[in-house]
Amino acid sequence: MAGFIPDEIVERIRDECDILDLAGRYVHLKKKGRYYFGLCPFHSERTPSFSVDPEKQIFHCFGCGAGGDIYTLKMNLENLTFAEAVREIANEVGIAIPDQNEAEGDVSHARRKKSKILEALDLAAKFYRYVLQESVYGTKARDYVASRAFSPKVQEEFQLGFAPGSWDSLWRFLTRRGIDEAVLQEAGLVMPRQNGRGSYDRFRQRLMFPIHDTQGRVIGFGGRVIGEGEPKYLNSPETPLFNKSRTLFNLHRARKAIRQKQEVVLFEGYVDVITAWQAGIHHCVASLGTSLTEEQALLIRRNSENVIICFDADSAGEDAALRGLDVLKKQGCSVKVAQMPSNTDPDDYIRQYGGRRFGKTLWRQPFR
Ligand SMILES: [Zn+2]
Repeated sequence: MAGFIPDEIVERIRDECDILDLAGRYVHLKKKGRYYFGLCPFHSERTPSFSVDPEKQIFHCFGCGAGGDIYTLKMNLENLTFAEAVREIANEVGIAIPDQNEAEGDVSHARRKKSKILEALDLAAKFYRYVLQESVYGTKARDYVASRAFSPKVQEEFQLGFAPGSWDSLWRFLTRRGIDEAVLQEAGLVMPRQNGRGSYDRFRQRLMFPIHDTQGRVIGFGGRVIGEGEPKYLNSPETPLFNKSRTLFNLHRARKAIRQKQEVVLFEGYVDVITAWQAGIHHCVASLGTSLTEEQALLIRRNSENVIICFDADSAGEDAALRGLDVLKKQGCSVKVAQMPSNTDPDDYIRQYGGRRFGKTLWRQPFR
């Protein structure tokens, strides 16, 4: 048994959690009468048959028959047991569950492992942030950030950090705080040394961009080299928490604006997103250094049908934009490809002309 939770607590959590909020985090919902409809997260479809009834606090899919309450929804969306789903939602709505009855089952083991990896990633983000803000090792990175004209506020919002050039500064910082070597390796933060003794930091001499899940928890990093070094951008490897093809940079922050505007701007790079955000364009996300995957397109489609692809105005950028256009259209999106002046990156353009003019440039293109 993976943790007994008293019925009255299960009910209290149910009262606190609105199924519309929960479903809305995964599915783009539109109101129709007293129900809300969206594309079902449990089967592939083009026309919405997934419905949410906010009065009864239940969901039902007319396509595949999936249905139930907040707990069924959470269990199915994230592959959790009932007890795990209750705990996760309890966490989100801020209700404490007494822990003493928890058994040592495999499931709770997996959950504990996941939460340790999350803790390691969160601490790593704080370490990198500290180095960028305070440490002498962060000087060059601070110069780079200044050259991009990122305001202190936006740096804080995006938790920008710096991984110093040393081989083991993060490793030392985290192991001293009692985080296991194995957890650090699974989090993708360090790599085992070839001689089998200890680990070394994966990210060195890089400006660090934390990547979050839809709940705003750090699940990975993108690192841009500062000074010499290859590759220019390095991402976290695939981990139990981080799946590149199913993640979009900035989605958790942008989602509200995306739903309000019913439009997404898709960029290639983290820097484009941050520059746009600073200029007041909040409905923007980026793919993670690879070409747009079907899963990412589906993720976009669940939040809005209308997408503006805004990639670099060079031949590589144009090719990537056309590939992205195909993938998005296959998922039923209406797509515009923004035309930047040649050899201009979106972030250069925004810094030079501002968010307003950038928006006007974008919106002049017809949807395809
Ligand atoms: Zn369905």
